[in-house]
Amino acid sequence: MSTKNLLIYGYFHLAYSLLKRALMRYQRTLKEEIFVEGVGLHTGTQAVMKLKPAPGDTGIVFHIKGKDVAINATAKAVCDTAFATTLGVDGTRVKTVEHLLAALAGLGIDNLFIEIDGPEVPILDGSSKRFVDSIIGAGITSQSCRRPHLKIVKPFFFSDADAEIAAMPGDGMRITYRIFYPHRLLGFQEMTFEFDEDLFVKEIAPARTFGFLKDVQRLRAKGLAKGGSLENAIILNDTGVVNSSGLRFKDEFLRHKLLDFIGDLSLAGSPMEGHITASRTGHTSNLKFVNALLAAADCWRMVCGPESDSPRLDNPRLDNQGLDGRAGNLKYA
Ligand SMILES: [Zn+2]
Repeated sequence: MSTKNLLIYGYFHLAYSLLKRALMRYQRTLKEEIFVEGVGLHTGTQAVMKLKPAPGDTGIVFHIKGKDVAINATAKAVCDTAFATTLGVDGTRVKTVEHLLAALAGLGIDNLFIEIDGPEVPILDGSSKRFVDSIIGAGITSQSCRRPHLKIVKPFFFSDADAEIAAMPGDGMRITYRIFYPHRLLGFQEMTFEFDEDLFVKEIAPARTFGFLKDVQRLRAKGLAKGGSLENAIILNDTGVVNSSGLRFKDEFLRHKLLDFIGDLSLAGSPMEGHITASRTGHTSNLKFVNALLAAADCWRMVCGPESDSPRLDNPRLDNQGLDGRAGNLKYA
């Protein structure tokens, strides 16, 4: 690339990132409603889900068909974290919300009504990809309310059994995620994700959930994984991957654990600003961390950004065409 082209490319990147930063300062919802249909991973129940635009400061709210309750997607509503994140109010529950919540967090959707005619969010292909594709297809609109951020202002450390999570002050949002599984395809892996919508769409959202063949019977005996299949989960045996289609990424497992973490973290109720390092976590430790952090009020404060921020820009429409080189924000140990 010539020096002139490099300069143009650099200016384009700068303008693009400034525009996106400006857009991220205002709340967002969908431009129009969308439908998503599919089977639930654990219940095996078919469900149709409608995602509808919601006014500013509504948050993410689930409504189960035939039940007169609103379930706000916040840590307070979490009622079960075994093998999936379940929200509930007064006995009305919605299961396996994490991949949908990760898609909403990854695309910066703040306000949404989610109507569902079953007990579980469809698992689709086991990742966030189809949620992301549907949302991008419908379009995303900027709203007049500013988006608050939970800014980490003091180091916060959390541990629970093997899981360790640290939240440190820092500009932007960065998550370093680590896994360790005693399996030849997994072992110790680490990656750092600097929050970026394009990067989320291309590199994190398509990573599918996974499980071990030896655990499948155990899960079924517990009444779980009834809707699980090779179409919606990667299954590992002792030596490799059972799915004939193979992996979407060499480190798809690590990316999916990061995706789960992003979904669970969104239950804090606001995007975070800071640097988070998480090791060997699951839904239970993710939610314990969120609750512990929220209780440690001296470690964070809510900010809306300086008043001198750029003016609101209407109707941002994201597409699925990332910029070359943006994967440079994805760092490996
Ligand atoms: Zn998952």
